[in-house]
Amino acid sequence: MAKKQKFKTEVSKLLDIVINSLYSEKYIFLRELISNASDACDKLRYYALTNPGIAKNNGEFKITITPNDEENTLTISDNGIGMNKDDLINHLGTIAKSGTADFVRNASDNGSIVDLIGKFGVGFYSAFMVAQKVEVTTRRAGEEQAYNWISDGVDGFEITETTREKIGTDVKLYLKDDAKDFTDTIYLRHIIRTYSDHINYPIVLDLGKAGEETVNTGSALWTKNKADITEDQYNEFYHHISRNFDTPWMRLHFKAEGSIEYTGLLYIPSEAPYDLFQPDRQQSLKLYVNRVFISDKVDDLMPAYLRFVKGIIDSADLPLNISREMLQQNALIAKIKNGTVSRILKELKKRSEDYDDYMKFWKIFGVAFKEGIYEDVANRVEVAELSRFYSTNSIDKLTSLDEYISRVQEGQTNIYYITGDDVPTLRNNPQLEAFAAKGLEVLLLTDPIDEFWVQVLTNFKGYPIKHISQADLDLKMERDTPRADEGSLKMLTDYMTELFKDEVGKVVPTEKLTKSPVSLTVENGQMSIHLERLMRNHQQQTAFASSRILEVNPYHPLIIKLADSMFDESQKQNVEEVSRLLLDQAKIAEGEAISDSSFFSEKLSDYILRGWQKSA
Ligand code: ADP
Repeated sequence: MAKKQKFKTEVSKLLDIVINSLYSEKYIFLRELISNASDACDKLRYYALTNPGIAKNNGEFKITITPNDEENTLTISDNGIGMNKDDLINHLGTIAKSGTADFVRNASDNGSIVDLIGKFGVGFYSAFMVAQKVEVTTRRAGEEQAYNWISDGVDGFEITETTREKIGTDVKLYLKDDAKDFTDTIYLRHIIRTYSDHINYPIVLDLGKAGEETVNTGSALWTKNKADITEDQYNEFYHHISRNFDTPWMRLHFKAEGSIEYTGLLYIPSEAPYDLFQPDRQQSLKLYVNRVFISDKVDDLMPAYLRFVKGIIDSADLPLNISREMLQQNALIAKIKNGTVSRILKELKKRSEDYDDYMKFWKIFGVAFKEGIYEDVANRVEVAELSRFYSTNSIDKLTSLDEYISRVQEGQTNIYYITGDDVPTLRNNPQLEAFAAKGLEVLLLTDPIDEFWVQVLTNFKGYPIKHISQADLDLKMERDTPRADEGSLKMLTDYMTELFKDEVGKVVPTEKLTKSPVSLTVENGQMSIHLERLMRNHQQQTAFASSRILEVNPYHPLIIKLADSMFDESQKQNVEEVSRLLLDQAKIAEGEAISDSSFFSEKLSDYILRGWQKSA
């Protein structure tokens, strides 16, 4: 008797949700198992390209569905790659996809099953929605020994040795009493046609004495004419290849002709994938050669910034027996990539005309997409055109760079931006005061990637893109308010420079502030304070910390008061304390931490109280 092996915790939890859920669309289990069977055939077909003979006597690839009314069972069989003992333990006892595992760990109620299936699918385990017991009999290509995996989906599974004449897999479901429908051939035919028609292999329904019937159309969906494909077929194909179960936001089906011919059927999801920012962010297109699945790991097929695009590329012009390694630097692959990227960008451009619709895409994928400004040298401008940003002049809508340009002021020669952690803090940054006063628009950039693309896209359609600290135009304004006396101001800034020598490079007067007394900035051309903070958070810097500048507003009454007090020995302590408070204030406005918070709060209350008492 084989020892019972326990499921991993997440699997138990997933099974618990699956078995006990009131999820009504239980028939989706069939789509999932057929999908797995189809993948297994894909894998063996590819494997056989380099190992001829491995699938000898295995017959044409097909998926067979055998209902048994008397036993109340349903068996899904394939002659694909099969599984050995390790495969069974690793694949049917764990959840491979980290996103699903995380989701399951956090799922607390049965209602989340709908979400779970919507986002990730539950794959093989969905069988337990309709089965009280599942028995998998399988033999892996190239191996003699077959295995039997059996489980009631409750606390574990058993694996025993068995025999199977050919390679492939049978998944036998012992149906629950209330799942008897799934032995009804009319119902089965209907489910298969609805959800699995696009499958590339024949799906054969075993009608017992009445023989066998191929139920699906069985041709690769992308080879058909667009006009002959229904919306449902397109969506079901998307579900199959992406293992996402939303309705895609965008679909692109095309045939490229010319020096190299290929077909693409691409989708952009409408829901955020869990792995958009995982470090091993790989592209996710599947490559077929003449309808034969080759690989879903051809990195060069799609640039990383478009890694969320799902779908397939099929080309008859690539050699069939090409190795996966050779695919990586193949010139034809590069051509396919360039052509495909252009088409995607063109389609996005069309869709960007409808703001609300485009925002559905942008809110999910914008941050990844913007990496293209940095990464895709050839399409840099197109990607920038398609990007959207927060800005001082457009409050509830994001703006494009073209729209920004359409609003430039007379005489304005640059596109300005500021970077920081979040939009509300940025909007209040004192550095923006003069820009606001002059009506100059500033982009508010808050994603880490923004710090990088601004370094490579330094000019857009004739407008240099500049950080506001590099504003070389004259921000000087006509002012009718008093200004600090030049001599005392010089004394004050010299004094503060000395006082803060460990924290800032220098203290200088500025014409840029209107409301605030002080503001922090960096030396022209140096790393922004935001980038420095990002790098610090990733433990990446110290060596090249930018030198800070504390700018003081010579028109502000507080600065005038300080400057005037420079000659008054009795004010020495006040001058020092107020100077320190001002530096802290500037840091807070930048989103920086202050060095001595107890000093700050104590002195702040002190000075408020003094002012209040005086005015009372
Ligand atoms: P997914 O298919 O999304 O990876 P599943 O839970 O459906 O997740 O399946 C887990 C794994 O089990 C598959 O990735 C595959 O390696 C293996 N598997 C499932 N069904 C079959 C099958 N019919 N033939 C061969 N391998 C299979």
